Amino acid sequence: MGVSNIVFIVLLVAAGALFAKNAGKIARNIRLGRDLKRNDRPGERWKIMARVALGQSKMVVRPVAGIMHILIYVGFIIINIEVLEIVLDGIFGTHRLFAPVLGNTLYYFIINSFEVLALLVIVACVVFLVRRNILRLSRFTQPEMKSWPATDANIILVVEILLMGAFLTMNAADSTLMMYAHLGALPDDLMHYASLPGHDGFLVSQWITGLTPDDPYAVANLERAAWWFHIVGIFAFLNYLPYSKHFHILLSFPNVWYSNLAAKGQFTNHEAVTREVKLMLDPSADPYAAPAEGGGEPERFGAKDVRDLTWKQLMDAYTCTECGRCTDECPANQTGKLLSPRKIMMDTRDRLEEVGKNIDKHGKEHDDGKALLRDYISEEELWACTTCNACVQACPVNIDPLSIIMDLRRYLIMEESKSPESITAMFNNVENNGAPWAFSQADRAKWIEES
Ligand code: SF4
Ligand code: SF4
Repeated sequence: MGVSNIVFIVLLVAAGALFAKNAGKIARNIRLGRDLKRNDRPGERWKIMARVALGQSKMVVRPVAGIMHILIYVGFIIINIEVLEIVLDGIFGTHRLFAPVLGNTLYYFIINSFEVLALLVIVACVVFLVRRNILRLSRFTQPEMKSWPATDANIILVVEILLMGAFLTMNAADSTLMMYAHLGALPDDLMHYASLPGHDGFLVSQWITGLTPDDPYAVANLERAAWWFHIVGIFAFLNYLPYSKHFHILLSFPNVWYSNLAAKGQFTNHEAVTREVKLMLDPSADPYAAPAEGGGEPERFGAKDVRDLTWKQLMDAYTCTECGRCTDECPANQTGKLLSPRKIMMDTRDRLEEVGKNIDKHGKEHDDGKALLRDYISEEELWACTTCNACVQACPVNIDPLSIIMDLRRYLIMEESKSPESITAMFNNVENNGAPWAFSQADRAKWIEES
């Protein structure tokens, strides 16, 4: 085993361990949420996952972005086969390990397919960069998309271009070495590059073989440099994911599987409130009975902070791709109100990250005196929501920003008795008159006489 294999194995183990540690923190943060049962109707869940996550059915509602995204997505999935070969070559010190196993014809076909995908991925990334930075589509220039979110998106697009570029450069240099072998001009100590007899270049990278140096040793160095850049870049990309919205490439599938299968618009009941109402309606219940001993702290009504949300709402926050389709469809946002459902998800993730860091530093029970409500999301944003569900419908990974808005509102009303004047008046009317309007029950039918 050579020094380079040892260096590779150390890097591989270090990258894997670091990623496992950071991904573990995200899993821990998601588990801070309240319990929620979401594993009923598994057959339906697998179908939704196949359609929405695997089939990208909601992405293509916007064809340009949808098709470009599918190219990057397919490229990402398929290129993993090539990454597997690179990793095995790195561990065992081999070169193109799969070529003799698959046979030359199949191997060429697979690598040529990767190259075509790599080229398409580069094109898609360039288009996305142009849309974000030159055309400046309104979706990407909203207030919550300033600074890190904008940089994050650009970093990942540039890294993908560089990684694909390194892959094509590596293949181009390899083809040149193969050509030297063909001509009998490959030095003995580089003969391991001649593992593909009769090779005359791969489909895409053949167009850049002319740019490789004339000296076989220089070409071999270029091949190694591109190989290392490619694989170290992938290790770096892997460890960048937990800090980026691109963590969605891992969470989209489980997040869609755990989708809310209830009809849109069907709100959940708060268990404690349901219990109270049932008690009130039960003629045999003792209204003055003391609560049972040892019942623990009463549960919070609604949500003030991230720990009051369910694990699914927290998983939603880590899955959000910040695409802005929800905000684009939101009628409140379109009419100039402060609300952006994308910001609700980004705020939830930011606050959860903050809580997670506090736990790492000061222990699980630490209270920093801050909360999701008001420190991140204002009351004005919450009351701007029309509960229309357009954001839920638009989200390509079945995220539900409305459920977070509703839980924060519930807290405001049930724990702080705070609501905008118009809603307070409506509550009073419902309580006094049994209807949202300010007329007594006896006067309700008067409009018939007046008409
Ligand atoms: S439910 Fe609320 S946040 Fe979602 S689109 Fe409608 S108004 Fe906007
Ligand atoms: S919630 Fe969904 S639609 Fe909205 S930005 Fe996030 S991923 Fe996009």
